[in-house]
Amino acid sequence: MNDLTLIPNSGAILPAPRLNRHFINGAWQDSSDNTLSDRNAPSHGNLVSQSAKGTAADAEAAVAAARAAFDDGRWSQLSGKARAAVLLKIADLIEANVERFAVIETLESGKPITQARGEIEGAADLWRYAAALARSLHGESHNSLGADILAVVLKEPIGVVSIITPWNFPFWILSQKLPFALAAGCTCVVKPSEMTPSTTVMLAELLVEAGLPAGVVNIVLGYGNPVGATLTSHRHVDMVTFTGSTAVGKLIARTASDSLKKVALELGGKNPQVIFPDADLESAADAVTFGVYFNVGQCCNSGSRIIVHEDIAQEFVAQVEALSRRVAFGDPMDPATQVGAIVTPEHGAKINAAVQAARDAGAQVVMGGAPLALKGLGAQFYQPTIVTGVTPDMAIARDEVFGPVLTVLTFRTLEEAIALTNDADYGLSAGIWSENIHTCLAFARAAKAGTVWTNTWMDGFPEVTFGGMKQSGQGREIGRYGLEEFLEVKSLVMRVGRTRAPWVKAS
Ligand code: NDP
Repeated sequence: MNDLTLIPNSGAILPAPRLNRHFINGAWQDSSDNTLSDRNAPSHGNLVSQSAKGTAADAEAAVAAARAAFDDGRWSQLSGKARAAVLLKIADLIEANVERFAVIETLESGKPITQARGEIEGAADLWRYAAALARSLHGESHNSLGADILAVVLKEPIGVVSIITPWNFPFWILSQKLPFALAAGCTCVVKPSEMTPSTTVMLAELLVEAGLPAGVVNIVLGYGNPVGATLTSHRHVDMVTFTGSTAVGKLIARTASDSLKKVALELGGKNPQVIFPDADLESAADAVTFGVYFNVGQCCNSGSRIIVHEDIAQEFVAQVEALSRRVAFGDPMDPATQVGAIVTPEHGAKINAAVQAARDAGAQVVMGGAPLALKGLGAQFYQPTIVTGVTPDMAIARDEVFGPVLTVLTFRTLEEAIALTNDADYGLSAGIWSENIHTCLAFARAAKAGTVWTNTWMDGFPEVTFGGMKQSGQGREIGRYGLEEFLEVKSLVMRVGRTRAPWVKAS
């Protein structure tokens, strides 16, 4: 493996560990049983943070605070202009703190510092965009129902929202949800992953500085059980928005159904990119390489499954393999690094098991397929891996690996490529590479995916909504639809003048 591009320990100075506490009703609190959980950096092994380990009682207290804050209107009844002003201040504060946030995000998640910076900067833009939406909230009016009737459909904040986030893009995913919920006028309880809690807690410090009223955003740290379970079952919670595994998403949907809460879910993907022989193959190979290794493949939008025309499959895979050797794997604190560490040893073992199972099933691992130890760092890295000779029935072609593992399938006709694309339980995103607009449009219309990219991969914008079909989730985030998720609809019908004919006949 010495022909890979590897970045050893850069010797960067690591910050002292943080202490993270719950943020409930505007106050910092320890857990009711005073327990803590530790997070060590997946790359360097140092202690990055110690966090209060929440109990059901802590989660209950946070829900009570969010409920009271919603019901007394301290946020929900502010004008859109007033809410926007606070969200804009928060965006400014995030921008002023990019470096501080990025270092902690890098150390807790294992992602490269340059990508952590991009994530925090991009998140600030999501807050700014949500602020703009806060001022454009409106329903509809009906002025043609007859001279004596006027009706309006009002949009109201849905109420108390539980926000449960994962470890792969802790600050970005939080910012796909929280500012939109706040723009709508909701109050929130947030539970970050216990592996990456710090930037969520650091955000709370900025919320205070920006003047967000106490109780509007509450943060409870800790595990899915009991904190997540309380936040998804509590009768004072009106909606749950979750990003994470499909298995936990289904569990949350079942739990929330007892009280018929609204549930929005962003789950996994096995996202295909179809490559036609007439494509700009150099661009396609570069995008495929980016799509599979970005965030070490720990990405719901990972382009983990390519479907290549059989005439060019061999040449194309060789091109991706050559590029893979040039991608810099290593110390995430080094700005030269493009791919960092795997989030936990257990997750690394899961990635490796998926690759070995593919081998056992008859697929060929043409590159990588094993963990990677780096000089002066831990062994929590994984080699860039390409698996060919895959048939659609193999687990590697269908299941989310969530690692730097590319699966290659082949096709002959557009119809076959569409069938392979849609032969999946997931439907998050899909892509096509071709210079023929007709091929691209036919594919885009037939693909069962929440996002389709043509001749690009993973380009995203606050304005363009995001979400999955099938078992990739329900509901949408960001864009105007992302705001709509947090709104309830109420019809108001008004009679103009005393024109209503009595129902009871006059005696
Ligand atoms: P999970 O889905 O288990 O975790 C995501 C979040 O849900 C965490 O905050 C977790 O808490 C919380 N959670 C766990 N159980 C419950 C529950 N019963 N009720 C409410 N919340 C709960 O993801 P994992 O970290 O275990 O990753 C496993 C797999 O999930 C990955 O291999 C990948 O395939 C997929 N995944 C997908 C993501 C995406 O972006 N769509 C993101 C992350 C993972 P805690 O872990 O703190 O206990």
